[in-house]
Amino acid sequence: MIDMTQIQERTNSVPQVAPSEDVPSQIAQTQLKTRYGEFQLLGFRFGPRHNNQEIMALVKGDCWSAQWRESLPYVRVHSKCTTSEVFGSLQCDCADQMALAEQIIEEHQGIIIYLDQEARGNGLFAKVEIYKYMEQHKVSAHKAWEELNAPDKRDYSTAAAILHLLDIRAFRLLTNNPEKYLALSALGFETIQREPLEVPATPYDREYLLDKQRHGHLLHVF
Ligand SMILES: [Zn+2]
Repeated sequence: MIDMTQIQERTNSVPQVAPSEDVPSQIAQTQLKTRYGEFQLLGFRFGPRHNNQEIMALVKGDCWSAQWRESLPYVRVHSKCTTSEVFGSLQCDCADQMALAEQIIEEHQGIIIYLDQEARGNGLFAKVEIYKYMEQHKVSAHKAWEELNAPDKRDYSTAAAILHLLDIRAFRLLTNNPEKYLALSALGFETIQREPLEVPATPYDREYLLDKQRHGHLLHVF
């Protein structure tokens, strides 16, 4: 179990933990049994500076231990995808990536931080609009984002604040997205190694994955 007293102490010493970010105003902890194993489930509530964001994280292992630090824990920072994760859409790889991340973290220890930023942070309605535009105009996701001039509002500062709070300074980031790697690298960590998180394509998301590949994502489409 994560030692909540240590978290409380670190919460009270904001400047040492996350110099440029707010820390969560509330933290809750329990256990969660999943099909991939049993994890610690953490809840974080941030203040108005972060739009009162509520964030969940799954943790395997004791982040205060030397063993954890020496093992360079795995970290997945995952943005919500309702169509895939709730409705079972086959048009993207998000749910499969989450399942794989849970399996890797169950085996090797680490943390999954789940951010409520659907459709690049534009929300549920924007997701429907983007899918509609892709369908109507027969264009890729990237093209649709471009043509609709929709901003990328994804923000990793709360994820960074959680990692700082848990004293996770060096880790392996599970991502195929070099931009996410760069964004987190800019937020004050000692070492971040990128680890791929590749899942098999389906007939419905093959084009989507190839599109991601063309736009710099480091992945194989298989
Ligand atoms: Zn998705």
